[in-house]
Amino acid sequence: MEKLRNKHLKKLENLIIRCSSRTSENHDWVCNLTNVDIPNKVKTFMSYGPKFAIPPEKSDIHWPKIISEVESITNAIEEDDIRDELRMDAVNILKNYKTAPNSKDDYLVTHLKQTFKETRYFMKDNKDDIMLMNADKGGKTVVVSKEEYLTQMNKLLEDKSTYKKVNYDPTKRVQRKSNSLLKGLRTDGCIDKRERRNLSRYNSVAPKLYGLPKIHKLSTTDNSNRELANNYPSGVRNKLFAQQQQLVQNTQINVQPKPTHIYRSFTNIPVVTAKLQKIIRTKFPSLNIKIVPRNIKTSKTFFTNPKDKICPEQESHIIYAINCSCEKLYIGLTTQYKHTRKAQHENEHNQVITMKNNNLRNSQAWRETANSCTALVKHVMENDHQFDFNQMETLDRGRRWNELKMLEMVHIKKNEDKSINLKSDVANLHSIYNTLI
Ligand SMILES: [Zn+2]
Repeated sequence: MEKLRNKHLKKLENLIIRCSSRTSENHDWVCNLTNVDIPNKVKTFMSYGPKFAIPPEKSDIHWPKIISEVESITNAIEEDDIRDELRMDAVNILKNYKTAPNSKDDYLVTHLKQTFKETRYFMKDNKDDIMLMNADKGGKTVVVSKEEYLTQMNKLLEDKSTYKKVNYDPTKRVQRKSNSLLKGLRTDGCIDKRERRNLSRYNSVAPKLYGLPKIHKLSTTDNSNRELANNYPSGVRNKLFAQQQQLVQNTQINVQPKPTHIYRSFTNIPVVTAKLQKIIRTKFPSLNIKIVPRNIKTSKTFFTNPKDKICPEQESHIIYAINCSCEKLYIGLTTQYKHTRKAQHENEHNQVITMKNNNLRNSQAWRETANSCTALVKHVMENDHQFDFNQMETLDRGRRWNELKMLEMVHIKKNEDKSINLKSDVANLHSIYNTLI
């Protein structure tokens, strides 16, 4: 028995070695425009493109995000009892995954994880010299010299007929103009209240200039060959092509209305995501909810983002924490600019300090503030503490309001011992999630 097992393991190992040596043929998909020598293994990994994903480790899982994803799925269900049941099933699957010991990776996953690590080290060592980018057409991975990229971009900016240097950021002015235009349109009855709200912006940021390397003129490889050369086994490739053709034929003959599915994205965790999909499919078939796996550990990490980062002050859609002098913290969320929200908090905070300094604790203004204030201001009114607004830390980011609301609650719950937030702030967080926080 043992002998047979070893024989099969040996066979598998050889197969993997053969496969990885075959993938080296794929180096056509990496175009190295620098003098930096790239190890073969790293080059192969780069050739997979930015969407190539490997299974995440437990430490890669962002639990607040997972909870907000479960809530987003269950929110699509109208019936309370079904919603509760699915939520419970999902939490059980996740809890088992979280507490179970790490399972041993197979050869292929081990190999991929190792290469992922090596690519990361390589990019880290060379981050000042090279940039890993996608070509503007054809999907090839291009390695460019950072110095050359900056020279080219600066050359572009020398064109004074297209670009003009300004000494200020006009974004806010344009935003104000655009919002006042919308106000005018609303007054004239051209748009309704909802349209005005949807079109108004309070967190615009200036677009960032960036360039993508153009290599298609240099290369002779046809774009359509990408699929053919990507090392998928020919059987799989042919099957997919056949399915695709059949699909095209079917749609030509018989166009049927598509069933309306509700699509929800969910972090792609090995086994867990598939289990969740299966439960929804088999136990709740009438729900029509489709889970779209979202990969969190992809080669994109190594690709250089040519766009400048949004400056921290201009961030929006964030969960933030502000520290008090007593080392407790206030957790909040904002869809405005971070600095706008900070200024609002600071202003309210300083008004209370001024009232305290002027002995106005019995005044009408004090009572009014106490009736309608944030937990932060309440804390300052009740204690002789002060918050440090220079240390406003971003805890998390989200896109939609519901997601942000969920993330805020999870972070408050997570920091239960330290946060000064009100109990009512976490009232909508189901206690079943406590095991995951
Ligand atoms: Zn305090």
